[in-house]
Amino acid sequence: MHTADVVLIGGGIVASSIAYHLVASGCRNVLVVERETAQGKGSTGKSMGGVRAQFSTPVNIQMSLYSIPFYARFEERLGYPCDYRPQGYLFCATSEKHIVYLRANYEKQVAMGLKDVRLLAGDEIRGMFPQLRGDDILGGSFCSSDGFVDPYSAMIGFMTWASDHGATLWKNTTVTGITRNINDGGFEVATSRDLVSTRTVVNCAGAWAASIAKMLGIDLPVEPLRRMLVPTEPFDQFPHSAPMIIDMSTGFHFRPESRGFLLAWNDPEETPGYKTDFDPGFIEKILVRAADRVPVFENVAVNPKRAWAGLYEMTPDHHPILGESPDVPGFFFANGFSGHGVMHSPATGKILSDLILTGKTDLIDASLLNFSRFAEGRTIHETAVL
Ligand SMILES: Cc1cc2nc3c(=O)[nH]c(=O)nc-3n(C[C@H](O)[C@H](O)[C@H](O)COP(=O)(O)OP(=O)(O)OC[C@H]3O[C@@H](n4cnc5c(N)ncnc54)[C@H](O)[C@@H]3O)c2cc1C
Repeated sequence: MHTADVVLIGGGIVASSIAYHLVASGCRNVLVVERETAQGKGSTGKSMGGVRAQFSTPVNIQMSLYSIPFYARFEERLGYPCDYRPQGYLFCATSEKHIVYLRANYEKQVAMGLKDVRLLAGDEIRGMFPQLRGDDILGGSFCSSDGFVDPYSAMIGFMTWASDHGATLWKNTTVTGITRNINDGGFEVATSRDLVSTRTVVNCAGAWAASIAKMLGIDLPVEPLRRMLVPTEPFDQFPHSAPMIIDMSTGFHFRPESRGFLLAWNDPEETPGYKTDFDPGFIEKILVRAADRVPVFENVAVNPKRAWAGLYEMTPDHHPILGESPDVPGFFFANGFSGHGVMHSPATGKILSDLILTGKTDLIDASLLNFSRFAEGRTIHETAVL
């Protein structure tokens, strides 16, 4: 029997950040259990790596206000790179409704202390990127400290630092069951490698989180939803210094990646399920939207074999579920990031570490994101989901 102070189930970026924050706070006997032979085979390795503070709910903005400066100083703090590129996010509005929405978000973001965001007029956007079809762009919002990170590097950086300072990572090890000892409140975590005794378990199993919660009889409202990304071949007819650009009329968005671009669009016809195969029919759907907003993309070459699919982990209100289970003390959730788990992993690590070690956190009002909000009808809707 192995013993650990904290067991983190799943070894993606969320567990890695929690491990880092726990160890950095002095809790060193942390065990991370990952079923794959390597980290990053879940959603983390499939992510687009976008990081932004341009959200519509205060709690998401707060999570970003911790996370983005953290990424900016990642290498200085941890000694490993995360490849933060502050190239910005540019939302392009094509209706009066979008303008009203962006302005309301902008006011919230500024009031909460975000300094780098500004509203733009349509002409400014046309001037910045004449390659965009701009006839219907009424304005937009741009935040220069938004941008991209390399999710794989960030995950490895967190985990390596944690391992260097006392944490343990078991790869190729599946958690198969969890039992709680009613007498002393501790847990026995059954894995394919050994039985582990602990007083604290954290569910970090991404899109598979509901199956882990089920092991303790908990119904966790986290559903897998496929998202597909299409990288282009090298392409130089659009600047590589560009931000993530979002066409609000269709939801199509893209960013520079290597010598080409990474194209994304969330198909509203997608249905929940563990689908991780790439659908070749998606290429035509996305290229139509790409060429509509960026006419030079008419000539862009893509290789379907380089496109990929991964899973978002959706909750009913598109916000994560963070904190201790109300029914099973000692069992914590770090789940349901609804597509924002890379950008919010630094804040999540800090929040979970605070809650586990001290029972409270100053970073956010943790009750906003707790599991009980669903039963108590306190869901908070985020509309700026990409
Ligand atoms: C196409 C795509 C684009 C995205 N773009 C962005 C973006 O631009 N910005 C952003 O912030 N986020 C983005 N995301 C979302 C982001 O990738 C996720 O929110 C994030 O990676 C979640 O991290 P995680 O550690 O919770 O989950 P994961 O990385 O999925 O890790 C969970 C791990 O748990 C393991 N596991 C599951 N069950 C068990 C078990 N029984 N025993 C042991 N291990 C187990 C899995 O193998 C997996 O490695 C994107 C996601 C996709 C799919």
